[in-house]
Amino acid sequence: MTIETILVLNAGSSSIKFQLFKGEESVLSGQIDGLGASAWIKGKSAEGAVIMDRALSDEEAKNHNTALQVILALLKEFDSELEVDAIGHRVVHGSAKYSAPVLVTDEVFAELETFNDLAPLHNPHNLAGIQGAKEAFPGKPNVACFDTAFHRTQEFKNEAYAIPLKYYEEGVRRYGMHGQSFHYIAEELHNVAPEVANGKVVVAHLGNGASMCAIENGKCVTTTMGFTPLDGLAMGTRSGTIDAGVVFYMMDHYGMSAKEVANLLNKESGMKGLSGISQDMRDLENSDSPVAARALEYYENRILREMGGLIAVMGGLDAVVFTGGIGENSSQTRAGVCKGLEFLGAELDEEANKGRAKDALVISKPSSKVKLMAIATDEEGMIARQTRAICEA
Ligand code: AMP
Repeated sequence: MTIETILVLNAGSSSIKFQLFKGEESVLSGQIDGLGASAWIKGKSAEGAVIMDRALSDEEAKNHNTALQVILALLKEFDSELEVDAIGHRVVHGSAKYSAPVLVTDEVFAELETFNDLAPLHNPHNLAGIQGAKEAFPGKPNVACFDTAFHRTQEFKNEAYAIPLKYYEEGVRRYGMHGQSFHYIAEELHNVAPEVANGKVVVAHLGNGASMCAIENGKCVTTTMGFTPLDGLAMGTRSGTIDAGVVFYMMDHYGMSAKEVANLLNKESGMKGLSGISQDMRDLENSDSPVAARALEYYENRILREMGGLIAVMGGLDAVVFTGGIGENSSQTRAGVCKGLEFLGAELDEEANKGRAKDALVISKPSSKVKLMAIATDEEGMIARQTRAICEA
């Protein structure tokens, strides 16, 4: 089956992001926000022409199915002749089973529903997107592309927690996230830095959520996120790795429920909690407050602590790639981290580091023992690529 036009959907609890690909090229992108309340759709072509920018009626905003009908209308407005050949879906959790994308048959859909407990904040919405797409595009193939799949090459020693084995066998494992982004960067290195593409690389995906991945020969060795996206680095509002004893203390000493602690660690912590100012790096970088400066220092230090572990587990380092909203745009964060790697012979080119990673930016000096780069990630592009591969196989 030849696949020309692919719609990529990333359905969240109250939003649906979408991007349309013709061949490898993204021709249209947009999103619906505010589902369930006062929803809005915005979509523009790759050239920047606004195709739709309006509120959804209550009827349209009822659920993912009704919202997808509006996306369908937007696609028709963009190109009245348009035929969507396949739909690629971002699905956060693929459990231990899926190490690659899968065509969603009725049986697969029923199986994916059993993973909802593993990612209750994400997977049910991702599946609602698939259900909606089945109705909006009858007969067209839907492909689920998992955030966790890229990390299934982790060995037991990196995937297990040191708790009784029964729990590992029943699915309590370090699954890892941001797999589309890491996979994209791993493939992109063959184009932009082939000399390190098969080497030992740490990719730092630093966005609102953030994780790092140790990649050797294009495959994940290990990663900083674990069972849930709460693990690893300090993030916008998430604490990252924390002594489980703190959780017990919060419950015993402050009388908090499990739900309240989860809320504290997921929504009120990270840069937001540490600075008391903002979760957004731009606000902290523009602030004169010493508390903001201390939070930024903390952020970089957490990255370095994790990076040390990833490098040691790989037994070396050929390159570091920064990506995600912060990795692509924040020269300050990149500089702080790269300075911390000088002991490995990494040499930052301060001038080059002033740039933004529209495509691929080399920010190390030619004499640097470690190649330092910033590369713009393309998670939707990766999903489109994988969807095509599955449908054309
Ligand atoms: P993402 O989740 O990948 O879209 O990243 C979003 C985050 O990137 C924002 O919350 C900001 O903290 C950060 N960011 C975006 N642009 C910049 C910038 N120019 N400088 C510093 N941080 C930025």
